[in-house]
Amino acid sequence: MSMAERKQWKWADDPSLNKMELTKLEKDGLDVIETIINTYSKEGFASIEPSDMDRFKWAGIYQQRPKDGHFMMRVRIPGGIMTSEQARVLAKIAQDYGRDLVDVTTRQAVQFHWLTVDTFPDIFERLAAAGLSSFEACGDCPRQIMGNPLAGIDPHEVLDTRPIVAELEKFFLLNRDFSNLPRKYKMSVSANIYNAAHAQINDLAFTPAKKNIAGEEVIGFHVWVGGGLSAKPYLAKQLDVFVRPEEVVKVAAGVTTLFRDFGYRQKRTHARLKFLVADWGPEKFKEELIKLVGELETSGEDLTKGWNGGYFYGLHEQRQPGYYYAGLSVPVGRMNAAELIELARLADEYGDGTIGTCNTQNVLIRHIAKEKVAAFREEPLIVNRFKLKPDTFVGYAVSCTGTEYCNLALVETKERMRLLAQYLDEHIELDTPLRIHMIGCPNSCGQRQIADIGLQGIKVKTPEGMVEAFDVHVGGTLEVPQFNRKLNARVTVDRLGAFLVQLITFYKEERLEGEEYWRYVERVGLERIQEQVDSILQTA
Ligand code: SF4
Repeated sequence: MSMAERKQWKWADDPSLNKMELTKLEKDGLDVIETIINTYSKEGFASIEPSDMDRFKWAGIYQQRPKDGHFMMRVRIPGGIMTSEQARVLAKIAQDYGRDLVDVTTRQAVQFHWLTVDTFPDIFERLAAAGLSSFEACGDCPRQIMGNPLAGIDPHEVLDTRPIVAELEKFFLLNRDFSNLPRKYKMSVSANIYNAAHAQINDLAFTPAKKNIAGEEVIGFHVWVGGGLSAKPYLAKQLDVFVRPEEVVKVAAGVTTLFRDFGYRQKRTHARLKFLVADWGPEKFKEELIKLVGELETSGEDLTKGWNGGYFYGLHEQRQPGYYYAGLSVPVGRMNAAELIELARLADEYGDGTIGTCNTQNVLIRHIAKEKVAAFREEPLIVNRFKLKPDTFVGYAVSCTGTEYCNLALVETKERMRLLAQYLDEHIELDTPLRIHMIGCPNSCGQRQIADIGLQGIKVKTPEGMVEAFDVHVGGTLEVPQFNRKLNARVTVDRLGAFLVQLITFYKEERLEGEEYWRYVERVGLERIQEQVDSILQTA
């Protein structure tokens, strides 16, 4: 029995399956790609079957708010590294079909908006010709693989993970053995010692490790499973295994098989791998994994030394002497097509023709020769737009899509976060980064839980009617992994800027020298922050 037949057999007769499971059993998500090309693109938006609209995600496509015939498309950028040629193809798609808009996401992917169904065959072709794909960038399947955007040039990585990411991408993309998982499934692979790929918030993550095996020091990975955000966030748990680089694909296939075959398919809200891992625990998970993939070494020495937050601003020496990489700020990850084309030019003229995308919605230019650095600094795009040293708040602001395009959003986020960060930079001076993430609903695409200050949109009732507001969470970090915690503070949007200025002023006055916000919250305690909030709200 093939894996594909086995999964049909295992679930087909289960009466408790949720509606999406029945949709997937009736027709595999990947089958929608052909239907889009052969039917919907010709017959138009009105011809799309509702169940296929759900399957559009497997093509990397969602309906855009307000569901009037426009779509969002996400394109995979495996490991967060693309070529300048690929960037130009993406920019041209945005120009031709996407109203000139390009978003870099918190999983290092690229998103378009405003697409219509007739354009998809051409977009699929253009992407394929450039070695890119939107397929399985959404849906219940292995999605965009996160990685170290500096892989190959990083002075802080213990091995070059690019070939591993490429192998994983080749193995999982369009692999029908794994196209029907219980829910979305997110992987990361990085050998950067500062946890560049946010291991603990992925379903499956590989982090750098070493082990002495038979007298030889081997560099490889530790394995983490069951992380994820949304309404019930979990930090991934480490398995007691050490994996050699050549074993990564085998282990990833094993973990994904466990998720496919044992993951929960009754409630969509209880289907991510994190729930299975929480129930089994890492020991049982390891036992089951070994049954599938064979014996693995037990864990070795962890080589992770901290967390860089996914930020790389400035010009820094690479592993290769005489070469630099440039970490650039893209405010809330949004750019236009001309800016992406300009980035591609900079990558060609100054670098090695590659561009990195960061999980902080920023970008990198890689491999700039020392003698070109001075001219690079003077480039208008770098001076005026994608800065090497952005202002504190603009530089560390992350935002999800929000009501502008997202059907699940309760509030507007993207432009609001950009303006809020600007406002904070105008009203408060701070010499340490303070990471603020804004999200429009509990799904947490903007990774609210790991922010110093996480703002989660809600609607509140006021005498003037329902208004947009934010719940405030403080103290998130992956340095010593912990999610931020909610304060008793529901701040309406009209007061948000002034509220944050006051809150951050308390921190500025009370912090130790150079103390980051999450460390400050740890030191003074949540009660102290709540006191600050109460005093701000009372005097408002
Ligand atoms: Fe939409 Fe919610 Fe995700 Fe924001 S967090 S993009 S509002 S689903």
